[in-house]
Amino acid sequence: MLHMSRRDFVVSTGLAAALGLNARLVVPAYAQKTPDPSPGFVRYKVGSAEVTAMYDGIWEKPHDPAFIANASVDDVKAAMVKAGLPADFVSIPFTVIVVKNGGKTVLCDSGTGGQVQPTAGKLPTSMKAAGIDPTKIDTILISHFHPDHIFGLMEKETNKPVYPNTEIVCSDVEYKFWTDPAVIDKLPEARKGLARRIQAVFPTWKNIRQVQGEPEVAPGIRFVSSPGHTPGHRAFHLSSGSSQLMISNDTAYVPALVVAHPEWHGLYDQDVNLAEQSRRKLLDRVVAEKLMICGYHFPFPAAGQIQKDGSGYALTLMKT
Ligand SMILES: [Zn+2]
Repeated sequence: MLHMSRRDFVVSTGLAAALGLNARLVVPAYAQKTPDPSPGFVRYKVGSAEVTAMYDGIWEKPHDPAFIANASVDDVKAAMVKAGLPADFVSIPFTVIVVKNGGKTVLCDSGTGGQVQPTAGKLPTSMKAAGIDPTKIDTILISHFHPDHIFGLMEKETNKPVYPNTEIVCSDVEYKFWTDPAVIDKLPEARKGLARRIQAVFPTWKNIRQVQGEPEVAPGIRFVSSPGHTPGHRAFHLSSGSSQLMISNDTAYVPALVVAHPEWHGLYDQDVNLAEQSRRKLLDRVVAEKLMICGYHFPFPAAGQIQKDGSGYALTLMKT
């Protein structure tokens, strides 16, 4: 869901050095207030599929009146408190999952690659602790092309592929949107650098497979169209026997805000009305079919159950 601010971009690309700036002066040391989970992974079953949730870190986002267009900062603070979270910032953790099913190991999104926030980039440590060998991953499913979901595919500075021999699967709509040279002029300033990086990197890779619609993309996993956050955003639906997990990605990114208030329009939803429509459709399905749900920015371990709650929904996190 994140966009890179110009400041993050300077630090993450080494441009600070090129510009003669001292990165430590650009971003002062930040003391993270939220303790990291220990260990940094949780394993659970969905039927016979094994799911491992791995912590990549957190962004303790300062409040910003523009973050939710139709709610005040006080409304946002109250919603954070109602969800049992601190009021003084918006908690945006990053949790990446691996699904082992049908003899295949499938990574769902790639983490921040340590290139989005200084308090994130712990996925390699969590993956190691979970006993998952990154060279043994068969497929990487990408929900959308925001930095916190794809920068884990690219080395910092060089853009070299982290997974050169692994199949990467994404929506054709998402791929075409971001790789269209004409898109750069249409994007807001904060997104232009992201599109330039994507255009410099992805077309040179041979291991990206674009898929149309909602096909099965790995054993027991189908894409679910969920546009609005970005044009080609996809959720992933995992099914094993009678058990199912909706891997919602950024459809309902910060649940304290937009699960409780699906009508709230977030700054990082590219098309706010379509995002709301997709969010309601996905959450209604999860409720009606009593599916388990996980989300990339849900509080760790980022999985649980959703119920209707007045005009919104309520998330009950899995106990660990
Ligand atoms: Zn995100």
